[in-house]
Amino acid sequence: MSLVSRDPVLLTPGPLTTSLQTKNAMLRDWGSWDAAFNAVTAKIRKQLLDIVNGHETHVCVPMQGSGTFSVEAAFNTLVPRDGHVLVLINGAYGKRMAKLVSMMGRKVTIFETPEHVPTTSQDVERLLSSDTTITHVGLIHCETSTGILNPLQEIADVVKLHGKSLIIDAMSSFGALEIDAKKVAFDAVIAASGKCIEGPPGMGFVLARKSVLERCEGNSLSLSLDLYDQWTYMEKTTQWRFTPPTHIVLAFQEALNQFFAEGGQRARLARYTKNYETLMAGMNELGLKQFLDPGIQAPIIVTIHAPDSERYSFKDFYNRVRDKGFILYPGKLTQAETFRVGCIGAIGVAEIRQAINAMRDALTEIGINEAIAA
Ligand SMILES: *Cc1c(COP(=O)(O)O)cnc(C)c1O
Repeated sequence: MSLVSRDPVLLTPGPLTTSLQTKNAMLRDWGSWDAAFNAVTAKIRKQLLDIVNGHETHVCVPMQGSGTFSVEAAFNTLVPRDGHVLVLINGAYGKRMAKLVSMMGRKVTIFETPEHVPTTSQDVERLLSSDTTITHVGLIHCETSTGILNPLQEIADVVKLHGKSLIIDAMSSFGALEIDAKKVAFDAVIAASGKCIEGPPGMGFVLARKSVLERCEGNSLSLSLDLYDQWTYMEKTTQWRFTPPTHIVLAFQEALNQFFAEGGQRARLARYTKNYETLMAGMNELGLKQFLDPGIQAPIIVTIHAPDSERYSFKDFYNRVRDKGFILYPGKLTQAETFRVGCIGAIGVAEIRQAINAMRDALTEIGINEAIAA
């Protein structure tokens, strides 16, 4: 039994550990019609466009629900009913994207590489040249299943060259890795409150090219996931179309203020990179190996090979680490026994060091000797 009475540190890629100020922002009730609440919504929409330098070209449309609701709303609205989407897959979120696009009746072509192989711009060049009926390309920026980083800039350049539309699931990278609308040509970037901005989960948002979204009336096959309707209603009334997650919106606002106070994307990337480097030094001491080549690993979430021991089971390891105050994430691979550790959230190297110690102690308890530092 654990004697830990404080909240565990979440080493998971959303929900993640939030700051006390962010949690405190959820302690008040807000009327969704009230001008004060609508001013918060407006400020969030502006701040999110600031992050991608997108005020001249793009608009921000917040959406209720987890991140997937926003991904679905984006494809469902931005892709015409006779559109044809190429989905680039190297993990579970790419598969999910292909599934939701096809469930909404749009034509889908998939291109899948193994989970440790990024999609390249040459792949995309070849695919777009060989099938000119493709109208849209769906890309996962950082595929959270492993933490692999796909080359956004290069792929965006090729998609632009072919005059196609790029829709980016930047859920686990937004705010940590640079995405600049002036450099990367995209029609939509999708992310959510509970990832690298470090808010609680419960709302997502789409940064959509205004000239494209303006032409999307009537595309949606869903009432609640109609991004066009959500946008025009919000523009007209300043309000959310249906009940907003008021407490989440306030906490997300607080998290965004802290994001800018910390120094924005660069500062956040620097902190996560330190977390990642500290974690890898610790894993190295414990004799645990990283699944991905470090050259394609984003400092967001790391996939680690499980110890090569008959005594190991993730459940036992997880429970022991949790009882010491840290929540790990199971692996999502079919080909190898792994677990994952998030580097994101309102945590720094102190928490990462403590987590390494918790993992070391757990392995010692289980009796996995090879993993213990000499
Ligand atoms: C978290 C995440 C999502 C959204 O998942 P939800 O469970 O709906 O919040 C989508 N794509 C990626 C890459 C993610 O990391």
